[in-house]
Amino acid sequence: MIRRKYFYNQKTLSYERVKPSAKRFFMQAGLVLGLSVVLAFVFTWTYSMNFDTPEEAQLKSQNNKLETQLYVYGQKLDSIHGYLSQVEERDEDLYRVLLGENPLEDEIRLAGIGGSENFTFTEDHIISQLDLDKAQARVAVQKSSLDELTYKANKIAGELESQPKITPIRRSDIVRFSSGFGYRNHPIYHIRKFHEGVDITARRGTPVYAASAGRVVIAGNLKDGYGNKIVIDHGNGYRTLYAHLNKINVKYGQEIKLATKIGEVGNTGGSVSPHLHYEVQKDRRVVDPVPYLYGNFSEEEFDDLVSLGN
Ligand SMILES: [Zn+2]
Repeated sequence: MIRRKYFYNQKTLSYERVKPSAKRFFMQAGLVLGLSVVLAFVFTWTYSMNFDTPEEAQLKSQNNKLETQLYVYGQKLDSIHGYLSQVEERDEDLYRVLLGENPLEDEIRLAGIGGSENFTFTEDHIISQLDLDKAQARVAVQKSSLDELTYKANKIAGELESQPKITPIRRSDIVRFSSGFGYRNHPIYHIRKFHEGVDITARRGTPVYAASAGRVVIAGNLKDGYGNKIVIDHGNGYRTLYAHLNKINVKYGQEIKLATKIGEVGNTGGSVSPHLHYEVQKDRRVVDPVPYLYGNFSEEEFDDLVSLGN
């Protein structure tokens, strides 16, 4: 419906239609348009203040999830630092002490902490790059300490494995220990001479057993006064020597077990009566064999060893 305006013309005494002016029309149209724009702006602004766009809603929920995750990671990292402290403590107070290693220098341990003395996190437990770096460095320091200890432990285990473990003659076969390690008057040459082993008197033909597992590096008579002799290399610098043997049961290069019967007591070389001259060498130097004798085995245990070694 179109509204038309009329006015009363007093001259003509009649109602006449008002002709709209172009100027008025545009002014009205402009006012309506302006109001619409203002209203649209107000509505949009009010809406956006109270309601998120789908993108904003998604980003907000993503952000919440990430914050929760970071909080959890922060707590986990916190507990990793806690466990690390326990491992470090055990390393210092137990492992390094047991294996005779000095404590790690503070500077080395602190290298893992980046100069800071505490590992407390920010109040809201948000992880920082620094927290992660600290954990990584502490683990690296601890790993190198354990590597060092593993090497030492393996070395000790290897040494123990290589050490002479038994007296080479069965206890019940031993007549007596006739001469010890050190200076003595030589029974044949009658001069004061360093005796490089122990002499164990036993009857000719008494079995001689390998004091530890190893490889035969000498088996024969080298005309050096020792008569028929055997030298066994046990590894880690340990060697044993058996001299004046009546009989040799092993060959050069042969791998033998602990308590393998390697020969028999005899009187060959510079010897006045049947006995075993027994030497222990460590890193090419003779050492007193006494600490390596006996080995606390009972006759039965010795028999077991012999049956295992032969
Ligand atoms: Zn001797």
